[in-house]
Amino acid sequence: MNAAEPTGEPAPDAVKNPAVQGRIPDDQIPQTEAEWKKRLTPEQYEITRKKGTERAFTGKYTDTKTPGTYRCICCGEPLFTSGEKFHSGCGWPSFSAPIDKTRNKTVAEHADDSLAGVPGFGVRTEVTCRRCGAHLGHVFDDGPPPTGLRYCINSASIILDEAKK
Ligand SMILES: [Zn+2]
Repeated sequence: MNAAEPTGEPAPDAVKNPAVQGRIPDDQIPQTEAEWKKRLTPEQYEITRKKGTERAFTGKYTDTKTPGTYRCICCGEPLFTSGEKFHSGCGWPSFSAPIDKTRNKTVAEHADDSLAGVPGFGVRTEVTCRRCGAHLGHVFDDGPPPTGLRYCINSASIILDEAKK
């Protein structure tokens, strides 16, 4: 691959969704569902804007170890880095901390009781992109030290910028 080419999604998506290329300006963040639908793939839209979940072990970044920065697929904001990514075996990309190492900041947290009646779940903590509201996944308290956290993130919600060699 030519080193100058952007990594990640193929060209048609890159044209459709400017966040694939980088952090988009505030005034270019869509404000309506229709605008999001135009930019995102159906899977990305369902997960990020409708709080969907990709099937375990199907996401493109589940086992990725490539060094780099993971950005929001919707607005391009940097959210996680490969340094905090770990192999959890849960079937989704897992991080022990967000990029700013601070809870409920760049990656926002919300109580999610949508599975509260399901045995083994209870009230979970949903995580979203603070900037654009994209649903990312959930954070659980069974991660590795030092944080003890596991940010369980849908691959469809993020895009990896590989670190420059
Ligand atoms: Zn975002």
